[in-house]
Amino acid sequence: MTKVGKIWEHFTKLGVIEGYKQERAKCNRCPFTCASTVLRCEEHFKVCTNTSIEILKEYFGEEFERPRFNVFG
Ligand SMILES: [Zn+2]
Repeated sequence: MTKVGKIWEHFTKLGVIEGYKQERAKCNRCPFTCASTVLRCEEHFKVCTNTSIEILKEYFGEEFERPRFNVFG
């Protein structure tokens, strides 16, 4: 299990943006931004409608299924 850091293949670190206390990151496939933490990015990554299930399975493993609820925002 060496997926630490792999999320940054799918998100771009933006650094600190005016108006936010924490560093921000942006999804590479849509305009979504969130706090620049692996946890936050993975939360979006799972539900990103522009990311294919094949890519998600490559990241999370073959067993991965998209959550049935949306957790946008
Ligand atoms: Zn996205």
